[in-house]
Amino acid sequence: LYGDYDPKNIFAKILAGDIPCAKVYEDARVLSFMDAFPQTRGHTLVIPKVAARNLFDISSEHLQNLIHHTQRIGRAVRDALEPEGVRIAQFNGEVGGQTVFHLHFHIIPCYANGAIKH
Ligand code: 5GP
Repeated sequence: LYGDYDPKNIFAKILAGDIPCAKVYEDARVLSFMDAFPQTRGHTLVIPKVAARNLFDISSEHLQNLIHHTQRIGRAVRDALEPEGVRIAQFNGEVGGQTVFHLHFHIIPCYANGAIKH
């Protein structure tokens, strides 16, 4: 939650092209890719191309762009998989449930009866 951005975090390596990912969308400011350990079928991540550890490290302008794409990609995931619900999740700090310290939004399709469909 406090401190410096670690340029060796996993998503920084993905942004640098050092670790592969299944890309969903990419432009100059945003990258979206499939979560490698999906909570449900279609679990997707959206990250900014700025060195931000969490929600508190990013400018409101970049955040606005990031949430715009999260909505847009979330809509595409919804339309493709037709889940009953879609959870948008975002964690800040280890105690807050964050495990990768580069800001990201989760798009998690939710299926009936809590069923996990990988
Ligand atoms: P957090 O708990 O920090 O919000 O979520 C981090 C997410 O990153 C988790 O859902 C985890 O499955 C995902 N993840 C961790 N390592 C990798 C990786 O190397 N590649 C991809 N695509 N996702 C990862």
